[in-house]
Amino acid sequence: MCKSAIKASKISESPWTILKLIEWTTSYFDSHKIEGARASAEILLANALGLNRIDLYLRYDQPLSRQELSIFKTLIKRRIKREPVAYIIGNKEFWSMDLDVTKDVLIPRPDTECLVEQALTYVPGKNSNTIWKILDLGTGSGAIILSMATQRPQHRYFASDRSEKALGIAVGNAKKYYLSDTILFFAGDWFNPIKNNIHDFDMILSNPPYIPNQVIAELEPEIALYEPRIALDGGKDGLDCLRLIINQAPSFLKPAGFLILELGYDQKQKVSEIVYNCSKYDSIRIVKDYSGHDRVAIMKTIN
Ligand code: GLN
Repeated sequence: MCKSAIKASKISESPWTILKLIEWTTSYFDSHKIEGARASAEILLANALGLNRIDLYLRYDQPLSRQELSIFKTLIKRRIKREPVAYIIGNKEFWSMDLDVTKDVLIPRPDTECLVEQALTYVPGKNSNTIWKILDLGTGSGAIILSMATQRPQHRYFASDRSEKALGIAVGNAKKYYLSDTILFFAGDWFNPIKNNIHDFDMILSNPPYIPNQVIAELEPEIALYEPRIALDGGKDGLDCLRLIINQAPSFLKPAGFLILELGYDQKQKVSEIVYNCSKYDSIRIVKDYSGHDRVAIMKTIN
């Protein structure tokens, strides 16, 4: 923005009210082809004012102070450079939780809620005495493991990430939702931190990096410029991490244990081949996400 616009407002003696700013920012974002312009404008303004988004509707005529305007202006500038709203405000809703996120973690996606939904259909519910061991590999913000642990608190949860910074975010999120005693976090690459320790997980979950490395630069700038490359980059064909997890998971799972993975919309065939070639699974099922793309693979080890 915004200097000239703000000055113009002063000259005309009409103050920048909440409504006026939402409208101005929406069309400014639109002109820069920012997706969800109005929602972005409202979320950023609410954040600048320390309000909930819904509070804005009750205060449309409230004028902003010079200081509030200047804070908001900084946020607008960041969004114009295509920084995702979640990184600007430092949180993202996932499974009705408000998770802290920084540039060290992938922003949790609604697609990943499908993985959680699928996983929950297999995990014993509150009325069962069975206690499962459940592991999340590459936990990032902790989105998957926290959702599971809030829904099925009686089980034992484990989560790893090779990025210590990411792990710090996940640990903080677990604390926020009083799950510090329920989830054990490990630092390290895939199965390395648990090697030789636990061989009887009932379920292993992961949303690993699965974008082919050549494709990353072609993604929207919000992703390509801001999200952590190690959370996206799945190697030349995008399948490096999926391949590793599918091949190693059977050594850490019980017989008839579950491996549930998120995958790219066009990776069903290749993932199925990896699973058949591994010959330690007796089934694979692929489930679509809410947009109709193949997204979640559910595998069961041989009994
Ligand atoms: N498990 C985290 C999520 O789904 C992080 C995934 C990743 O970094 N690839 O949001």
